[in-house]
Amino acid sequence: MKYSKSGIITTKNTPNDAEVISHKLMIRSGMIKKLASGLYTWMPLGLKVLKKIENIIRKEMDSIGALEILMPAIQPAELWIESGRWEKYGPELLRLSDRHEREFCFGPTHEEIITDIARKDIKSYKQLPIIYYQIQTKFRDEIRPRYGIMRAREFLMKDAYSFHENEECLNETYEKMFQSYKNCFNKIGFDFKVVNADNGQIGGSESHEFHVIAENGEDELIFSDTSDYAINAELFSKSPKEGDKSPDGSGKVKIKRGIEVGHIFKLGKNYTESMNANVSNEKNTNTKMIMGCYGIGVSRIAAAAIEQSNDEKGILWPKAIAPFSISIISIGFSKNETINKYSKKLYKILKEKNIDVLLDDRDVSPGIMFSDSDLIGIPYKIIIGKQFIEKKSIEFKDRKLDKTTTIEENSVDNPSDNVIKEIIAYIGYPE
Ligand code: ATP
Ligand code: MG
Repeated sequence: MKYSKSGIITTKNTPNDAEVISHKLMIRSGMIKKLASGLYTWMPLGLKVLKKIENIIRKEMDSIGALEILMPAIQPAELWIESGRWEKYGPELLRLSDRHEREFCFGPTHEEIITDIARKDIKSYKQLPIIYYQIQTKFRDEIRPRYGIMRAREFLMKDAYSFHENEECLNETYEKMFQSYKNCFNKIGFDFKVVNADNGQIGGSESHEFHVIAENGEDELIFSDTSDYAINAELFSKSPKEGDKSPDGSGKVKIKRGIEVGHIFKLGKNYTESMNANVSNEKNTNTKMIMGCYGIGVSRIAAAAIEQSNDEKGILWPKAIAPFSISIISIGFSKNETINKYSKKLYKILKEKNIDVLLDDRDVSPGIMFSDSDLIGIPYKIIIGKQFIEKKSIEFKDRKLDKTTTIEENSVDNPSDNVIKEIIAYIGYPE
């Protein structure tokens, strides 16, 4: 991508409602734009990040055999009345009616819709287990939308639902999901913790939350310094203090704040009973299906990554979700013909090798090029400037380590093979 055509518009200003660093940096880098309270547009730079997150999750879901579908965002009230949640859900549910005065809601989650699909399509235990998932927009009329897209009203979620004949089968799928959530968050490069959690509005028997460790996290996590024991503090009426004996009896209590990016639940027959979703078993008798549901806050992940990784210059994206892997900063691009031609060739070669490269072709000062590249969080830079002409070398800069490496380049006309090799060795081959 050439910067001049990228639609990236950075700004020094941060809005008054931006309380946390991720919100400030997402606005300053031009990733998102506010439309109204809790409603944001994803601009080209932001959308690139969002798509990368989506793809990591999609690959993981596909690899465990989950089937991708796409359900409507608008859902008829009848199904919610059937499940009993039309009354229970409260003001977070955005209710609307159509021209015939039929009632609908904008889905905050999709248990009712998927249970309706399953009761129509699944007749026999032989079709089970089955996992459906979607990556789709949700709406929750949050009482306090804040922190930009971290607690928005409209946001992107990956929600998955599994159906089973019995508990053992649910447990197996739950375990697989658990592992694939860990894989997702490891691939993104998060420092995260899995905790036992409350079932909230969704209901069910067992649930785990996945939290990105960050000072601005809304949740308090209580865990043992020696065992696997970890729990959301909201499950305690009076939570223990740091250094207390761990509630599981092993080690001492540690406390950290976390941003919830994933939540998995064993639902059991919560929905299949109220909505009468049957399947015939081996003995040819009908039983209610058993369900699990599994959510990831796709858009929230972008903010959580920034909360966990930033510095005074801007965002420090983990490589896996950086909007661009590398930027080419050509000092004197518009004025020096040699630099201009070389940079364009290097750009073309890297692009052909599937590397997400941003060529800064703007007629602005080097200072602005550097600060924009740092603000939007590109992990690496190639700097082509005076040294290229005078000393036959280009510079390679690692943003996180703040380390510059000089790469020799004897050809001013065409990027040489070993230069390309060296660059790719640093940034890693794209997956
Ligand atoms: P929270 O406690 O943060 O409100 P939740 O328990 O209501 O989350 P779930 O119903 O489990 O959330 O939804 C699945 C995932 O969707 C959450 O783990 C979170 O990452 C994300 N999410 C939930 N609410 C929002 C929101 N208002 N804005 C952005 N992401 C959200
Ligand atoms: Mg919520």
